[in-house]
Amino acid sequence: MKTVIIGAGLAGLAAAYRLAESDEIVIIEREPEPGGMASSYSINTPDTGAYHIEEYYHHIFAGDKELIALIDELGLGDRLEWQRGTTGYYFNGRIYPMNTPFEILRALPLVDVIRLTLLVLRAKAIKDRSPYDNMTAREWIYDTAGESVYNNFFEPLLQSKFGDNKEKVSAAWLLGRVQIRSNRGTKGERLGYMRGGFNALIEAMADNIRKKGGKIVNGTVSQIEVADGSVQGVVVDKEHIRCDRVISTVVPRVLEKIIDTGLLGHNLDISYQGTACALFGLTERIMDDIYWLNIKEDVPFGAVIEHTNFIPASDYGEHLMYATSYFQSPDSVLWRSSDEEVIELYLGGLEKLFPGFREKVKWWRLRRDMDTAPVYEVGYGKKILPYVTGIKGLYLAGMFSQANYPERSMNGSVVAGFKCAEAVKEGK
Ligand SMILES: Cc1cc2nc3c(=O)[nH]c(=O)nc-3n(C[C@H](O)[C@H](O)[C@H](O)COP(=O)(O)OP(=O)(O)OC[C@H]3O[C@@H](n4cnc5c(N)ncnc54)[C@H](O)[C@@H]3O)c2cc1C
Repeated sequence: MKTVIIGAGLAGLAAAYRLAESDEIVIIEREPEPGGMASSYSINTPDTGAYHIEEYYHHIFAGDKELIALIDELGLGDRLEWQRGTTGYYFNGRIYPMNTPFEILRALPLVDVIRLTLLVLRAKAIKDRSPYDNMTAREWIYDTAGESVYNNFFEPLLQSKFGDNKEKVSAAWLLGRVQIRSNRGTKGERLGYMRGGFNALIEAMADNIRKKGGKIVNGTVSQIEVADGSVQGVVVDKEHIRCDRVISTVVPRVLEKIIDTGLLGHNLDISYQGTACALFGLTERIMDDIYWLNIKEDVPFGAVIEHTNFIPASDYGEHLMYATSYFQSPDSVLWRSSDEEVIELYLGGLEKLFPGFREKVKWWRLRRDMDTAPVYEVGYGKKILPYVTGIKGLYLAGMFSQANYPERSMNGSVVAGFKCAEAVKEGK
């Protein structure tokens, strides 16, 4: 049986990894290299030598069980390290560390801290989140903890994550996030990272698939061909490829273009937001021991992530920092402008927060994509796409899958890919 997988991101690679032994597998990827959103830059400067660093900042959580097991299975377990991921908030012209209950107490009024603690306890006690899919996060926070907790704590977080869509986000999403992220202990949360970069995971998966006979081919799928309710093949750069099954990992907006949605019978109207993420190579560190800084200030990015305050700069021979923003529309200046213009905009904001920043920049890179995260708005729970569709031989895995709710992640995409592989094996 021949299976075509559309997309060599983690979902596509995970499905292929599980199927390549038993099936004839062809992954079609429109970019020259596999990896999708988890791809890395290869940096090579005369003073640092060669290394890999993620194009979008990445770390993992202790609960990412399937991904951790996969890293072990591929013999890469010794590269996975758990470090304290220090966080902070920039507001009123200064940085407030936000790692421990004591630090949060210093940044927020006591009454807000008490209300926030009660909100977290209440969120953790809710087992069935589905009724909260119909109400906004803002409504629930107002009802549970009041306006001040929303304004002082949640609003800046929601702003940096969802921008203009922040008031559309559902309470079910918020509850899911609080339940996952609130077990930080008194010293702050530990985050996982593969020393040398997650690129090693992508390469190991791709090698493993090829060794088992699978192929990873560069091309763009423009159509999934369906006849009599069954998959017949795909069209790749005008060439017809016959196959028995297709696993599609592309976002709904692309899926809509390559299949007759009437046949698919699912609502593909899922809003996504884009990301514009700059990475700077620096001569010096910028912040004292803060990895992740959320920002409530009038600058064109929502967070600054100093990677080398998480992983030592000695691994790279220089300091690395991301500045990043989500954007909600193709009309955004972050999408319309040239790379140089976006970098100039970001540099202006960075200079405002960290005077003298410009002089420390050795080089920069910018990655931008339109569809980098679903907007988990009211009603999103009902739009999650199934692994197995009504079209015989068509499977779906990606950021829109159940495994990627309430937050899309590398683990979620690996699980989604595995779920499709299981369904294929079971002949569903
Ligand atoms: C800014 C940012 C930060 C993140 N941080 C983290 C983090 O810290 N931790 C974490 O776990 N996760 C993080 N993620 C999420 C994680 O990277 C993604 O959830 C995961 O990599 C998605 O994998 P995927 O295979 O589902 O989708 P993708 O990686 O998007 O893969 C889909 C692939 O399909 C290809 N494709 C699209 N259309 C076609 C076509 N017509 N024909 C052929 N190929 C096509 C694309 O090029 C792409 O390679 C982050 C993501 C972003 C954007």
